[in-house]
Amino acid sequence: MTKTKIVLLSIIVALSGSGTFLFAENPEQPKIISIAKDSAPAKKIEELNLDVLADWNGKLYIVAGPQDMVHLQKERIPYTLQTVPLTPARGQNAFSGGGVNGAYHTYQELEADMLALQQKYPNIAQVFPLGESLEKRKIYALKISDNVAFEEDEPEVLFLGCHHAREWISVEVPFLMGKYLAENYASDPEVKRIVDQSEIWIVPLVNPDGLEYTLHVYRYWRKNRRDNGQGNFGVDINRNYGYKWGIDNEGSSPSPASEVYRGTAAFSEPEARAVRDLFLRKNFQAMISFHSFSQVILYPWGYTKVPSDKNAQMREIAAEMSSRIQAVAGRVYQYGQSNGPAMYPTNGDTTDWAFGTSGTPSYTIELPPIDELGGGFFNRLEDIEPIFRENLPAMVYLIDYSIANYQPAIHNPYDLGAFLFKKIDKPDTRY
Ligand SMILES: [Zn+2]
Repeated sequence: MTKTKIVLLSIIVALSGSGTFLFAENPEQPKIISIAKDSAPAKKIEELNLDVLADWNGKLYIVAGPQDMVHLQKERIPYTLQTVPLTPARGQNAFSGGGVNGAYHTYQELEADMLALQQKYPNIAQVFPLGESLEKRKIYALKISDNVAFEEDEPEVLFLGCHHAREWISVEVPFLMGKYLAENYASDPEVKRIVDQSEIWIVPLVNPDGLEYTLHVYRYWRKNRRDNGQGNFGVDINRNYGYKWGIDNEGSSPSPASEVYRGTAAFSEPEARAVRDLFLRKNFQAMISFHSFSQVILYPWGYTKVPSDKNAQMREIAAEMSSRIQAVAGRVYQYGQSNGPAMYPTNGDTTDWAFGTSGTPSYTIELPPIDELGGGFFNRLEDIEPIFRENLPAMVYLIDYSIANYQPAIHNPYDLGAFLFKKIDKPDTRY
């Protein structure tokens, strides 16, 4: 059995649990099901062209859409739903404190861990809610800096995670960066140096509703949870930003059912607005938006194949980040323009908007693995720390770059001076 299958299986087994399943869900949504291999001749099963995730212990685990279920019923092949039962958005969180997601954070766990950092390191860590998701979860930012309560004249850097719900590792890498900086500030002069000279903003979970949905309902969910009507849910937050939004139907889709649905208007989604409002109130010198998977470093433009006027500089920074990542454990992250030969066009994404609006060097890092065979969206629990560790020097490099190239905001029309969001001390209790 390949490694991928073991990873997938451990998740499926964890997901399968026991008891009855309730589906108050969109029936169009594909689900993970299992069928016993001896329930029908192999040839008959083959003819159904099912999307087989894994073949294990006499059962096939399948990602099945409604049509597949109809076919199975027609052929009288019994199947079992393996998806976890739906939990109300603000009901009991079945997985807090460890569960199917293990060391990966739930919304609630992340909130608690961010507030714990603030409590333990009050001089350098503060938590701000930037706004609320569609389902009224908070979108939190963690600010790390010396004299953290004050707006100092220092370069600012932004690290974002989890625009896409199923990309769990993209929550962990930016959060662990904040934790690392807070925990090592007192003992590591290098950490102290960068924290003293900059303001580091970390938003590990841009899409909290989506993340919760992947935990409780459907592990492959990507978008937010916008009800688009007619049984279609979700806007791709990373196609909802307002630079060249919807310029064509290749880089995003006008169709509400699509995985890259761009929404009804630029910044129609509160999650994208929360990032926008932070960005416009600050003067970021550089940013990374973490995603997974494919192990690449991308920079604008995504909407066109034409290189930006800062292409050489953007490429140089990407090359430097890539080589620093590789130096840690030998893993190679390719790099290039987002809409390059090996990649696909995107419009309305975070980095095109950030770069197009401010000229700030803006990167998408697609974390490991390289491909579906390497695990796709399923990183193992043991992968979290090594993936963070290899990205750490790239993030430090970008902070150093920002310090070295700092340009104070002199005519940022959006610079509102003091930060308008209020720090919070207690968890949001409205789950
Ligand atoms: Zn993504």
